[in-house]
Amino acid sequence: MKQDKLWRVALGELELRVSQGNFLTWFKDTKIRELEKGTATVETPSAFAHEWLSRKYHTSILEVLQGIDGSIAKVKFTIKSQVKTHRPARRSARVLAHKQKRPPKVEKPAQTLEATPLISVEVVKFAKTLNTGYTFDSFVTGQNSEIAHAACQAVSASPGSSYNPLFLYGGVGLGKTHLMHAIGNAIYKRNPSAKVLYVTSEKFINDFVQAIREQNTQVFKDYYRTIDVLMIDDVQFLAGKSKTQEELFHTYNALYSQNKQIILSSDRSPKLIPTFEERLRSRLTSGMLVDIQQPDYETRLAIVTEKAQHPTISFDAEALAFIAKNVQKNVRDLEGALKRVIGHCELNNKQATLEYTEQVLEGILERPQQKTIDSQKIVEAVSLYFNLSYDDLCGKSRKQEIVRPRQVAMFLLRNENNASFPSIGQQFGGRDHTTAMHACEKITKLLEHDEELGRDINFIKERLYA
Ligand code: ADP
Ligand code: MG
Repeated sequence: MKQDKLWRVALGELELRVSQGNFLTWFKDTKIRELEKGTATVETPSAFAHEWLSRKYHTSILEVLQGIDGSIAKVKFTIKSQVKTHRPARRSARVLAHKQKRPPKVEKPAQTLEATPLISVEVVKFAKTLNTGYTFDSFVTGQNSEIAHAACQAVSASPGSSYNPLFLYGGVGLGKTHLMHAIGNAIYKRNPSAKVLYVTSEKFINDFVQAIREQNTQVFKDYYRTIDVLMIDDVQFLAGKSKTQEELFHTYNALYSQNKQIILSSDRSPKLIPTFEERLRSRLTSGMLVDIQQPDYETRLAIVTEKAQHPTISFDAEALAFIAKNVQKNVRDLEGALKRVIGHCELNNKQATLEYTEQVLEGILERPQQKTIDSQKIVEAVSLYFNLSYDDLCGKSRKQEIVRPRQVAMFLLRNENNASFPSIGQQFGGRDHTTAMHACEKITKLLEHDEELGRDINFIKERLYA
């Protein structure tokens, strides 16, 4: 069906815009329910997903859909269970209208009256939190991920004994989430009654906040502290959330003392997560700490070759080499590029030749040849915008109100001027290149949610290019 294909292509692109954890959490089991008169109705599996998608990702979804099919003007959301197949022919219009109005009214009290008030911490079948596609088999190891891969396998072989906790870190899209799920899947396969729980940090925070709001913290504790394997993804998002950190600290202690396995991931070394409570940091890093690096060309080629397997679309070897050569940053982008090509091939009945691949990826690979802007100007524009002096921005201060604008400036130097990380570090008082890298990653991550920051940056860019 056209809408299924369309949604598949759209998901491929959305995956590039949203963090992997969020993508899995919110976009899993979604589909386009209906495509009519320029309105796409996206069906979500739960009310929770419905709320998040419509609140946080509405614009992205619309943009992506429009990019693929220009006739789409509107996106609506619907929850799966609510969409009953009515048979209007057999009912009078009045009955129908009555029926359609009812579900929301009926549903609310039904939920609050439930015997176990587990609204905040959904009782899920644990394995359901795992993506079954993310296995060790489907993970291609290269030099960049050998150690991480080995550590994860060791943990999956004997959870709770060696390497506890396991802390995986590395840039976005390098396979941390994949490896976590792979551990979970392997453990679960061997022991289907194991309570293996994967959560994003956001989910953990939400559950906790909601438990407090509903005065339900005991349920939260009972839930999180009786798990065999707890995996929390992207813990950098816990920075600044001191209550949640404290709760995690206690959760950690409870689990650890029962020899339960804890696995964490972060987009940077735990040393670099600001405002992490010291006692928590020391616990979380007391086990095995492994990083994943960027893949080299050979690894990238191996990955795209593996992932290009498709029942109807075949890739020329040159097309794969082209992708591996041009998409260097991470595996997620590699996968995104592949999916994009596959999607376009499917929609237009083409095969993935080098020529067609180049054509499809043209827009996303290289930045359009824009005039580069004097890097000095970028820094000036940022300092002007944030009302800071040039020296402040390039200086040593670590005050948050200076650090963030500094990161924005670094981000712009990188994205607008394609400046190298070392040169950016240099420009900012001889800082290390890793500082520039983290700044860019940080801003990229923040931009996924922080609309205000997005507006700030657009505003600065407008001035720069004016
Ligand atoms: P991270 O959590 O580090 O941001 P993910 O685990 O979400 O990255 O990986 C992004 C995408 O790339 C996922 O679809 C994942 O399956 C894929 N991926 C990452 N590394 C590898 C690898 N070494 N082999 C196969 N697929 C990979
Ligand atoms: Mg991840």
